Amino acid sequence: RTSTSSRMAQFKLVLLGESAVGKSSLVHRFVKNQFDEFRESTIGAAFLTQTISLDDDTIIKFEIWDTAGQERYKSLAPMYYRNANCAVVVYDITQSESLERAKAWVKELQRQANENIIITLAGNKLDLEQNREVPTEEAEAYAKEAGLLFFETSAKTGVNVTEIFTEIAKKLPIEA
Ligand code: GDP
Repeated sequence: RTSTSSRMAQFKLVLLGESAVGKSSLVHRFVKNQFDEFRESTIGAAFLTQTISLDDDTIIKFEIWDTAGQERYKSLAPMYYRNANCAVVVYDITQSESLERAKAWVKELQRQANENIIITLAGNKLDLEQNREVPTEEAEAYAKEAGLLFFETSAKTGVNVTEIFTEIAKKLPIEA
């Protein structure tokens, strides 16, 4: 390749997790670099794209599926994660039961999604440290055991949001 050549690879990413953990807010932060406390929640599945430059000549394009309302229409979820290359399973660090729900999603993905899907566990709302219910070490140990990437994030402050996508991008199979 010459220095002017570049390669672009496109991947499908789905967000899963209990309602109100901040899935749409994380996507909004990543795509628009904004946080809006009063943004209307998404109805149905919203589909957004965002690119990341991995190095000088590699561009990763994410096709992001935010599966809003999946808790109500759980039977539709397989349609969203079918063919997904990566999944971000989100819980809220201030809600213990949202981690249990995240674990159930991980199990379902590991059983039913693409065999080589890259799964990331994201503990969101890190800015609400004073209300934390899920210790970092607990989630980290689970993620390690389940073979997941792990981050604690805040869609509100933006901490670790781009990092999720950069780390996923580094793990994706990009052909030379
Ligand atoms: P979703 O249902 O999982 O897509 O969650 P939303 O993105 O709609 O967020 C649910 C609520 O949590 C909204 O009121 C958001 O403003 C709020 N929220 C989302 N992310 C954060 C965060 O990182 N910190 C705080 N403090 N609030 C957040």
